[in-house]
Amino acid sequence: SRNKAPSVSELVEGILAQDQVALSRAITTIESTALKHQQQAKEIIEKCLPHANKSIRIGITGVPGVGKSTFIESFGKLLISEGKRVAALTVDPSSSISKGSILGDKTRMEELVKEKNAFIRPSASGDTLGGVARKTRETIILCEAAGFDVILIETVGVGQSETTVHSMSDFFLLLKLAGAGDELQGIKRGIMEMADSIIINKADGDNLKAAKMAKNEFSRALHLYPPKENGWAPKTLLASALNNDGMDKIWSVVLQYFETVKANHYFEHKRKEQNKFWLMQTIESRLKSEFYANPAVKKELEIQLKAIDENRTTPFEAAEKLLLMKAN
Ligand code: GDP
Repeated sequence: SRNKAPSVSELVEGILAQDQVALSRAITTIESTALKHQQQAKEIIEKCLPHANKSIRIGITGVPGVGKSTFIESFGKLLISEGKRVAALTVDPSSSISKGSILGDKTRMEELVKEKNAFIRPSASGDTLGGVARKTRETIILCEAAGFDVILIETVGVGQSETTVHSMSDFFLLLKLAGAGDELQGIKRGIMEMADSIIINKADGDNLKAAKMAKNEFSRALHLYPPKENGWAPKTLLASALNNDGMDKIWSVVLQYFETVKANHYFEHKRKEQNKFWLMQTIESRLKSEFYANPAVKKELEIQLKAIDENRTTPFEAAEKLLLMKAN
């Protein structure tokens, strides 16, 4: 005897009443590949959209071991003590590739999990980063409708996942460790440019001195970049997520950022740009999946692949044939 699945309107009512069970079930519906669920997901998202958009979305990245989950736990607890409601999501494209996900395996955020004003949801799985990203974006909408005012979106830097999380965040945090020698080495190109703040974590104990040096080095490097479109000069800060040190400072920097970009209207501009980007992404992925799902295309694709194998056609000729089929 299984429980009757709740209807769309029951789920939406639950979400708006800040019921986390309803929220979780709705997210599961979003993540489902079943056609019936996808239809329901569409309705849920449409009904939640008018209640969304009101949160602060913070992207967080850094290599495995830098302290992301410790940071989210520590930072999350501070926010909750300030009366915020915090959702922590992850974008982890590796979960679909390696099964055991990089982020999900360990017991994470043990204290935050217990907070009633916290909601923690591991990454959706998917065949592609684009698929995972879409589900996360939709999950953000549901979380906002459920009254979460700070959304933390964590990613480990697999492939393009940082760029993806950046494209759904208002503020982007890069966590770093102090190391011996050149601090700037080994940093992925483009990540520094995306960061609104660089946090040197594990600035405690024997590490403190090196952390301070790293902070100076990163600050100097950031000054070399041209001023950002948003009028914000990225800040480098120290933290010890383990000791809950530096969290209030980071939060005040985030608030300062929001003050700046709301005053100069960059905030709305960026969200609109992100929405345009997602419109294009949605169209592209829909066209692609519909194309490949078409039985006639599937059949013809086999034929054309074989023809290429046997040198009977060129890739361009084959593609032309397939694309015309869809149009008819
Ligand atoms: P993640 O892989 O980036 O999520 O990193 P974790 O949060 O799992 O942390 C990796 C390890 O670093 C754990 O053993 C943490 O206890 C430790 N750690 C995290 N933050 C700090 C910190 O601020 N100081 C110290 N000393 N250790 C930390």
